[in-house]
Amino acid sequence: RPSIVWFRDDLRLADNPALRAALDRGEPVIGLYVLDEDGPGIRPLGGAARWWLHHSLASLGERLRERGGTLVLRRGPADRIVSETVTDAAAGAVFWNRRYGGPEREVDAGLKAALRAGGIEVSSFAASLLFEPWTVRTGAGTPFSVFTPFWRACLALPGPRAPLAEPREVGGPHRAPASDSLDDWELLPTRPDWAKGLRETWEPGEPAARRRLREFLQEDLANYDRARDEPAAGATSLLSPRLRWGELSPHTVWHETVEAGAGGRFLSELGWREFAWHVLFHHPDLASRNLRPEFDAFPWPHLKPTHLAAWQRGRTGLALVDAGMKELWHTGYMHNRVRMVAASFLVKNLLIDWRRGEEWFWDTLVDADGANNPFNWQWVAGSGADAAPYFRIFNPQLQAKKFDPDGHYVREWAPEHLGEHPPDPLVDLGETRKAALAAYERVKSAS
Ligand code: FAD
Repeated sequence: RPSIVWFRDDLRLADNPALRAALDRGEPVIGLYVLDEDGPGIRPLGGAARWWLHHSLASLGERLRERGGTLVLRRGPADRIVSETVTDAAAGAVFWNRRYGGPEREVDAGLKAALRAGGIEVSSFAASLLFEPWTVRTGAGTPFSVFTPFWRACLALPGPRAPLAEPREVGGPHRAPASDSLDDWELLPTRPDWAKGLRETWEPGEPAARRRLREFLQEDLANYDRARDEPAAGATSLLSPRLRWGELSPHTVWHETVEAGAGGRFLSELGWREFAWHVLFHHPDLASRNLRPEFDAFPWPHLKPTHLAAWQRGRTGLALVDAGMKELWHTGYMHNRVRMVAASFLVKNLLIDWRRGEEWFWDTLVDADGANNPFNWQWVAGSGADAAPYFRIFNPQLQAKKFDPDGHYVREWAPEHLGEHPPDPLVDLGETRKAALAAYERVKSAS
């Protein structure tokens, strides 16, 4: 009776403990991916994420076939679909790598119990985080709410396990259950086809992810600490979508970085990813609720749709914000420094609720991540864990001077700002800053 490996946010063959366990069982292995768009509480993917997923699944399917395996694609609520596939395949075991979002954990726990009750072997594995969320605790036994002691505690634990080798064969004779065709899922945009810039920028899939990791470690890591904040420097790893989709495991990134020497600062960015996921684990509604409840008192003014649209399209009249929002629209990515500035402008100069910005990023980022995105939005808004203090408001003009002093980044994405008649700012930075601070008084008096 074959084993099923249920792939989720781990679209890779190397360092995949669920796949390894299925192979060790010694029976034929069937890969399964379920597109779950309507399971209870499951957040439907955004447009750019769907684009990435399509190509990453195509790559994974091809790699499994080359090794004698199969990738079965099915669509629908995961609990029903996985059970049906087990029956169709007459499978004896199901293996998966753990997920950490609230609704996902519920689905997985329910399924595990139901399958086991039916005599099916089920095992789940740690693969997507370096440290399991329940293993990192303060001295008092509570979860950390500040990054530095959190990361220190992580580093004091036994280090991340070494990555598992990529299997050469994944197969054995079996009768594969019926699969949907990837094209029928219509994950790619057609009318209009807005993905041209994504195609020009990215190559999804595990082989390209590994190449990028190697290239980053050889060519860019040495410059990382110095240049990581400069959006034109190309000094960061661009691994975020690869980690988001699990084309690389954090263990692989960790160990290869350590072998390449140095990298403490870079590794601590992986630490922020861990922190965001641990916070989500303890606060499953991170994308919808202020982590600090006193922020519920924030008097958001009535939404001005024209302001939101100007921000989304990169027409705010602030060079760095516009450049960032255009980079995002074109490539599905934005440099971290610019994400912070663009997010701060939305929340603290346009006084638009951080959730509207989070939703836009969710739809447009190829690395849109269930923890990192809401976590960082709340960090910028001041409502989150170890967040920037609300009153520290980025000035987008000063940020541009500091981090893009020669205007290389703005020239690439928003050259209209460097012409003779640059656009006017949508709002006055000084006045809106004052209004934001006045609104914040309500939060202070609620705390
Ligand atoms: P590098 O600097 O090379 O960092 C290496 C890896 O560390 C990244 O790939 C990422 O996995 C992790 N990392 C780095 N910075 C952070 C951070 N602040 N928080 C969590 N993990 C981090 N990152 C996402 O992966 N998905 C998101 O949806 C996302 N939304 C964001 C929204 C806002 C408003 C902000 C300010 C940041 C957001 N980030 C998000 C974090 C960060 O901007 C990106 O991870 C980073 O820009 C990706 O580029 P890189 O891989 O070259 O980063």
